[in-house]
Amino acid sequence: MALRVREKIKKDVDELVQKTGKRPGLAVIIVGEDPASQVYVRNKAKGCEEVGFHSEVYRLPEAAQMEELLALVHKLNEDENIHGILCQLPLPKHLDETEVILAIDPNKDVDAFHPVNTGKIMIGNYSFLPCTPAGVMELIASTGVEIAGKECVVVGRSNIVGKPQAMLLLQKNGTVTICHSKTKNLAETTKRADILVVAVGRANFITGDMIKEGAIVIDVGINRNEEGKLVGDVHFDSAEKVASYITPVPGGVGPMTITMLLKNTLTAAQQQIK
Ligand code: NDP
Repeated sequence: MALRVREKIKKDVDELVQKTGKRPGLAVIIVGEDPASQVYVRNKAKGCEEVGFHSEVYRLPEAAQMEELLALVHKLNEDENIHGILCQLPLPKHLDETEVILAIDPNKDVDAFHPVNTGKIMIGNYSFLPCTPAGVMELIASTGVEIAGKECVVVGRSNIVGKPQAMLLLQKNGTVTICHSKTKNLAETTKRADILVVAVGRANFITGDMIKEGAIVIDVGINRNEEGKLVGDVHFDSAEKVASYITPVPGGVGPMTITMLLKNTLTAAQQQIK
């Protein structure tokens, strides 16, 4: 699916370049040496290259200060060749993530983390969707199953996944329940779900006996198990026996997330070039 969407993006990029002579540009800022972040940034830059974007990666040292980071964001806000800006999170502890997100021009905020964009999502009138929930919605759509009227359960309530995910399912007329660490009788709730989205960050947390027969199960989690292997939040082997559709980890939500980032950057470029 991710490849299919990327092919379409590439075609649209070629069209935009032919019509306007301008190419979508994405700037990625990374601070410090977090190994997972390094991998994500590399994959994002590779994705940009594949669809014909112009991309720039700014690497700041672990000890970088707020002033330096904000000055870079302001410079990129003014740069006509850059249509999308993202700052890879998490930032080192001494830096204020909220202040950085607030500094990004909402029109260039292709992660859709700025309160202007999260607010627009709340009222259902948006230019960009946060990449992970947007990818999840495309995966659900690909099953052909209508969301309207279905019991949808989202496990996790982070600002970047759980909350916007619940909002998007609600906009498609699902009956949505959000679970979190204080939820009592989690299995009782997850077992009601026709559509179950899990974004907790705990290896193999949801097992087959917590899933309704025939449910669609979307596993957002990325964890390393004791052997150092990448696994999701859902125990795949037991879950696939009950689910009608299930996403693997790796190779499920992850590639869709980057694809949605590319889609947002194209949208931002189309809007700004217009
Ligand atoms: P956060 O740590 O921000 O949020 C985790 C959520 O899980 C919280 O809302 C927390 O509840 C809830 N939670 C924790 N323990 C339990 C429990 N025992 N029962 C029920 N809920 C619980 O994580 P993110 O949303 O940022 O990420 C979640 C996972 O998804 C991670 O593994 C991350 O790596 C992965 N991820 C994958 C992406 C992809 O592209 N595939 C993109 C983004 C994230 P509470 O609020 O009460 O603390």
